[in-house]
Amino acid sequence: MTDSYRHQGMRRQLVDELRQKGIRDERVLEAMNTLPRHIFLDNAFEEWAYQDQPFPIAAGQTISQPYTVAYMTELLDVRKRDKVLEIGTGSGYQAAILAMLGARVFSIERQKELYESAKILLEKLGFSRIRLFFRDGYKGLAEFGPFDRIIVTAGAPYIPEPLKQQLKIGGILVIPVGEDIQTMFRITRRSETEFEEEKKGSFRFVPFLGGTK
Ligand code: SAH
Repeated sequence: MTDSYRHQGMRRQLVDELRQKGIRDERVLEAMNTLPRHIFLDNAFEEWAYQDQPFPIAAGQTISQPYTVAYMTELLDVRKRDKVLEIGTGSGYQAAILAMLGARVFSIERQKELYESAKILLEKLGFSRIRLFFRDGYKGLAEFGPFDRIIVTAGAPYIPEPLKQQLKIGGILVIPVGEDIQTMFRITRRSETEFEEEKKGSFRFVPFLGGTK
């Protein structure tokens, strides 16, 4: 697991590309400039790690496209010490970015294989404070809530009520909603009963599935 000058150079270029594509939050760009994405992919695919593309990881899942990670993280507007829940740990890359922004990260994965490999990798990289759970994300993580921020990194057919209920007042949920192509929703909890809904761009995610595997 080395991070060479070459990797760093490719990462800088990727970050420039993200800036050109409209990402403005310098803290997000800085985190993405620092975290070696190639370490989250299989060795054989190092060369692909700094293309702005999603990429297959184990268990038929994908590590999200860097632009998507940057876009969602920007929408989430994370502040230091925020309690953040991620649904869909996958490779662990998004969780690591959130931790680098100073968040207290809780992340849920429904596939055992991914949960276990992310746990090993994140620990190896020094992110031992990220708390990982092998669970069904549809239920959220009630015993650790409420959360300042919740981010769902799989395409959801609808917005699960438990996730809305686990938001603090003023909290933000970012979730891609739709069957085939998803619309990015940002939901802000305004009061016990009121939620403000904003619709953003279109994306394509692997599906948000029920149950564990
Ligand atoms: N955030 C990840 C992206 C992974 S792709 C990364 O940075 O690499 C989406 C992930 O969501 C997959 O790993 C998939 O297994 C997981 N997922 C899908 N439905 C889920 C559910 N109900 N609960 C938890 N994880 C789920």
